[in-house]
Amino acid sequence: MPRCPVCSAAVDLVVATTAPFCSERCRVIDMGRWLGESYQVPLPRHAGEDDDDEQTGTGGPAHPADDE
Ligand SMILES: [Zn+2]
Repeated sequence: MPRCPVCSAAVDLVVATTAPFCSERCRVIDMGRWLGESYQVPLPRHAGEDDDDEQTGTGGPAHPADDE
């Protein structure tokens, strides 16, 4: 029988509607814990990000090539 990741209580997957948690309370606790960790960890920002590979041509709008 699997155990609740929050309180390590045995979880009956047949009757538990909050699986893999043993109860709604533990599910909320785990969710809050996960969100709290994600908020505490600052995302590293790239100083020199150059992910604009699409705009390689800086010639402005497409010029008509049917006037030769
Ligand atoms: Zn639990």
